Amino acid sequence: MIRLTKKIFDDLAILMMGFGLLIGIVFPFFIVLLGVPGSIAFRWWFFLVCILAGIIVGAVNIVLARTIVGRRLTTMAGKMQYIGSFLAEHPQEEIIASCSPEKCLIERDSDDELGECVDSYNRLVASLYQSFRKESMVKSFSRILSGRLELDDLAASVLPSLMQHVGAEAGAIFVEDNGELIPKACHRIPDAAALAKKDLVASSFSRGRRTVVEVPEGVTIEGALVDFRPAAIVLEPIRYLEVTIGMLVLAFAKPVQSESLEVLDLLSDSLAVAMKNSLTYDQLQRLAANDSLTGLFNRRFGMARLQEEFGRAVRNNAPLGVCIFDLDHFKSINDTYGHQVGDKVLVHFARILKSALREGDVSLRYGGEEFMAVLPGASLTDAYQIAERIRRMVEDAAFQYGPQTIRLTVSGGATSWPDFDASSPEALVRRADESLYSAKQSGRNRITVL
Ligand code: GH3
Ligand code: MG
Ligand code: MG
Repeated sequence: MIRLTKKIFDDLAILMMGFGLLIGIVFPFFIVLLGVPGSIAFRWWFFLVCILAGIIVGAVNIVLARTIVGRRLTTMAGKMQYIGSFLAEHPQEEIIASCSPEKCLIERDSDDELGECVDSYNRLVASLYQSFRKESMVKSFSRILSGRLELDDLAASVLPSLMQHVGAEAGAIFVEDNGELIPKACHRIPDAAALAKKDLVASSFSRGRRTVVEVPEGVTIEGALVDFRPAAIVLEPIRYLEVTIGMLVLAFAKPVQSESLEVLDLLSDSLAVAMKNSLTYDQLQRLAANDSLTGLFNRRFGMARLQEEFGRAVRNNAPLGVCIFDLDHFKSINDTYGHQVGDKVLVHFARILKSALREGDVSLRYGGEEFMAVLPGASLTDAYQIAERIRRMVEDAAFQYGPQTIRLTVSGGATSWPDFDASSPEALVRRADESLYSAKQSGRNRITVL
């Protein structure tokens, strides 16, 4: 390519006018060849006119080129500059909000290389816009994910955002628990637990692969999966390190678009990581709070709950009952049947204790074969009656070990604030413990209130 200056239009101007000059010089010789007499063609003024005409044609050409091509290039440069400076000065979210076709795209009005240039530029801007949009979507989705640790909370906040990004009308998130899918969040799905049991869901879950079910018009799905007639259902196993930890079910009112599935690809991995984190957090919470043998709260966590309940009781001036139980002659069960059977007896008692209490009551394993019940709202009489009911249930429900029936009894001490004016939860526990001691002293298999 011939380059004379640093500007293409200047190069063109020099070349076009130079060519005009050349034509002007050559033209008299040319017309002589065609038969015009040299006496006319080789006059100095004729040379001058030809050269001037050549230069004028060159100048007109360059003006036309500047007007037609230059103006188009100026428009393109302006739009590119706009995008460039916008990119440098604004966050991506603003670019997404403000990039309208008029502002960012160029209208193609020629069917040539410039038109192709315009097309390429528009495609570039469109794909830039798309990638910004996806990045911003992933960012906002990750923000939701990272702000939540509790599984229920995570599922409830992530589902609407996920549905919005993929354009689904209904959806549900399930988590796997001992081979069962437990619904954690759902929207416009009347019976999520029943949906989890559908063969379609179960087979997608066990294969660990996405299933897209298109529902052709006129075909209805048996059983109400969602509260409208879906055109497509997407079953997406939530997988973490090759293990399926849950399922995502999405229902669409219109046939599902490939972009929706691409978006799902983008988001499902981060959802899996967040869900795995939540599950681990949940397990850790449970490990930290529960006694591994009986599943009741452990002493540390249970006492912390007692502290809370005591504070609440004092604030609300509502009674708070506390009972402590100790299995009678438990050592002899261990000695006679072995430690493992002893463990089973502890689980047996824990079940009875749990079943006898209301929701809101707190049951904990206080020590080896000692248990505690914290009973918000229970007066001294209530606490005694509840403890007595538990004692009787234990007495009546003998523990069956193979052919052997192991008879079990329990002693307990009950107390309650403010009937007993304890100044602290520890004082309340001490009082219950003293009552228990008294029950043991006076013959066992009884509840004592001091
Ligand atoms: P009492 O009627 O006076 O309460 O008699 P007891 O035999 O129940 O009381 P003691 O304090 O002498 O014995 C408690 C026994 O509980 C001793 C201990 O080995 C047993 N124990 C404590 N924790 C566990 C446990 O986790 N599993 C089993 N199997 N036994 C336990
Ligand atoms: Mg004991
Ligand atoms: Mg005992």
